[in-house]
Amino acid sequence: MSKPIVAIVGRPNVGKSTLFNVLAGERISIVQDTPGVTRDRIYADCTWLDMSYTLIDTGGIEPDSKDIILSQMREQAEIAIATADVIIFITDVRQGLVDADSKVADMLRKSGKPVVLVVNKVDNFDKFMPDVYEFYNLGIGDPIPVSAASRLGIGDMLDEVSKYFPNSSKEEEEDERPRIAIVGKPNVGKSSIVNRLVGENRVIVSDVAGTTRDAIDTTVRYNKKEYVFIDTAGLRRKNKIKEEIERYSIIRAVTAVERADVVLVVIDASEGVTEQDAKIAGIAHERGKGVLIVVNKWDLVEKNDKTMKEHTNKIREVLSFMPYAEILFISAETGQRTGKLYEYIDMIMENQTLRVQTGVLNEIMTEAVAMQQPPSDKGKRLKLYYITEVSVKPPTFVIFVNDKELMHFSYTRYIENKIREAFGFRGTSLKFIIRERK
Ligand code: GDP
Ligand code: GDP
Repeated sequence: MSKPIVAIVGRPNVGKSTLFNVLAGERISIVQDTPGVTRDRIYADCTWLDMSYTLIDTGGIEPDSKDIILSQMREQAEIAIATADVIIFITDVRQGLVDADSKVADMLRKSGKPVVLVVNKVDNFDKFMPDVYEFYNLGIGDPIPVSAASRLGIGDMLDEVSKYFPNSSKEEEEDERPRIAIVGKPNVGKSSIVNRLVGENRVIVSDVAGTTRDAIDTTVRYNKKEYVFIDTAGLRRKNKIKEEIERYSIIRAVTAVERADVVLVVIDASEGVTEQDAKIAGIAHERGKGVLIVVNKWDLVEKNDKTMKEHTNKIREVLSFMPYAEILFISAETGQRTGKLYEYIDMIMENQTLRVQTGVLNEIMTEAVAMQQPPSDKGKRLKLYYITEVSVKPPTFVIFVNDKELMHFSYTRYIENKIREAFGFRGTSLKFIIRERK
């Protein structure tokens, strides 16, 4: 089920990062072995009461001159409008209402997206409340006073934000069609791949529902099946400033991946795999999505019989956290192997939803335990009692043991490998939950 996306928009210095950190807390959104991603605070997985959401900070670079500030804010607002379910528009009671605020408020109002207007730095409600009323002039609803620094008013703000969360993603869950996100750095060829895949197969959807999201997705019929390509409108967008492009590609990846079943992580063959690619791939990995690594522009590479192997080795090294993902070498330009993309998408979808019978799983586990003794500590040996698959997308297994502390990561990995030897599960991560049975 995809989580709602909340974006923070506001001028420099109004307190965006402070608010972001308060909401994200110490929570680390990334699994430990995904490189690079933890340094960034562009997005975070957050919760409020029993609700989960993904928070994104559209800010980032601090412009110095006034007209740059406005154009940057327009960019931020556009990104938020394109990707978020709810926008937090944050202003600063101490600087008061400024012209740039009004212009951005106009943009947000016209978008029709839910906006929560927040007035920050109200450290003392008695003293500053009179100044808060001025923000009604923005015409985007009631200003909510908060102090991000002293964590005042945050609960009231989140109550307001969560009012706009979709009740449930029932519609999406009932929708059996594969949902595919295509992610990667700028210029790796994402739009070209979309054009290849969509090509003549685009379905003209007449019954466009009320959501803005439908407008940015493209439905395709191929081999009598329908596929939904997510946020294809976002792919056609072109930005100018380099830092923004990088930030935007991360935000786009997070929001598209959130809604996807299968993620195509596109790498530029002529450039080779980079840390930035690992960052983007990590987003799909940590969310447990189906993944295909697509090496594009294969036509530009001078090849001999070892070239593909060399590229594969390098990718396995840099993307070491997803050994389960297949690698496909294509050229969107010439069409080489692009026909295989749908085959892989089908295969990954199947594996994401594959259910293995409990009896079979327990046979595999018993055999694995017999072949390699479980670890022990201080005279106590790990015992594995029972394994069962409890959910799919990604396939999730619960293993009951005598003592959780004894179940080392490496032994879980060993069991995972045995399950993969039997069933493959190519293209999807597997999740293991270890429980103690008393
Ligand atoms: P950003 O540029 O919008 O991300 O703003 P920052 O989060 O970096 O905050 C800008 C400045 O405002 C920093 O010096 C913060 O310490 C300060 N600040 C943030 N929130 C509050 C607040 O609630 N009250 C006060 N007095 N200062 C705050
Ligand atoms: P995006 O920013 O990831 O959407 O990348 P684009 O699809 O806009 O492609 C960026 C550039 O790479 C364009 O000039 C494309 O024509 C070119 N390109 C895309 N795929 C290929 C390919 O397979 N081979 C070659 N030679 N060029 C490609």
